Amino acid sequence: MTGEPGWYPSVDGPPGELQWWDGSSWTGEYFPVRRPQAELRPTPPRHRSRTPQLVAFAIIAVLTWGGLTWWKASTGPPPLHEQSLLPLDVPASAAPAGSTLEDAEEFARAFESERDENRSYVSSAATLADAFGSTLVWYDPQEPRLCSHHDDIDRANVTAWYCSLTPHLITLNTDSHHYPELLYSAELVDTVAHELAHKIIDERCGDTEPGVALGIAEGVTNSYAVLYLGASRDRLQPPSGYESEYTMTDATDRAAASIHSGICEAE
Ligand SMILES: [Zn+2]
Repeated sequence: MTGEPGWYPSVDGPPGELQWWDGSSWTGEYFPVRRPQAELRPTPPRHRSRTPQLVAFAIIAVLTWGGLTWWKASTGPPPLHEQSLLPLDVPASAAPAGSTLEDAEEFARAFESERDENRSYVSSAATLADAFGSTLVWYDPQEPRLCSHHDDIDRANVTAWYCSLTPHLITLNTDSHHYPELLYSAELVDTVAHELAHKIIDERCGDTEPGVALGIAEGVTNSYAVLYLGASRDRLQPPSGYESEYTMTDATDRAAASIHSGICEAE
């Protein structure tokens, strides 16, 4: 095999994982990096302290991630928002292993978000994501572009994203105008529900913009998050006077219901 160096579906890792091709051979670098089994809970960015726990976490992380340099362990951990590959230590699976999408959606509708010990909604958001087999990660501008179609997004105004190439990750955008304030707002959980809706629609229809949602996909995704994942319509609806592609209407609700019942193409 020849080809441009880059991240490609991994040849010897689990499905959904990417592996770095250096142009002539596969390297030992994977994305996302294989998850360390650490019992430590990182604190949100800007409010972290360099506790021994975090240093220990970094060391464990370095031992686990062959690709990182020893430098990071010897100088203490980088800020959490720079550890884009660092999955949160999510409490034991919120939905039982092997549960169906229907079970996870039911869990989401009954789920009540709350502030965690850091007064943020990060733990609630991570628990919700975990119910769908997803993990929250922080965007790191140093990381290679994984979703080429994200090159042209308005990075300052997008709070999070879902990428079909890494369907089990939800990336929180540290470049957003709303970051890190978003972490301390219940809107974080609604944002994660929106990204989970992208994932569900992608899984069910093989496309985040199936025919039935064509041209109104963001609004349909919001409708899906509200109708089936318990997200707040008030918080996800753009304010009146600021209608956008995210605005929910009867049409987006109908399209979301259609997708939920397994119909992806326009009639
Ligand atoms: Zn979206």
